[in-house]
Amino acid sequence: MPKLSMDIVLDKNTSAKLRAISKHTAALADELERIDAETCPGCGELCEVTEYHADGMPAHKSYMCHVCGYIKRESTL
Ligand SMILES: [Zn+2]
Repeated sequence: MPKLSMDIVLDKNTSAKLRAISKHTAALADELERIDAETCPGCGELCEVTEYHADGMPAHKSYMCHVCGYIKRESTL
């Protein structure tokens, strides 16, 4: 079976670009996790998220679906 090969030369710009890609993929992963957390398990729509604070600290979040009525409360303490 023929093999393909590729030489990659990492110069200063390449490592800066790789760092930029890494930063953005980490932010994208966080965003995708947030979307997953906010997606209604009943109907797949995005829930309305409300954060409640106690003494200035996040205490809990509620997820409410306006389509099917799903409600979830989650402690963030
Ligand atoms: Zn729903």
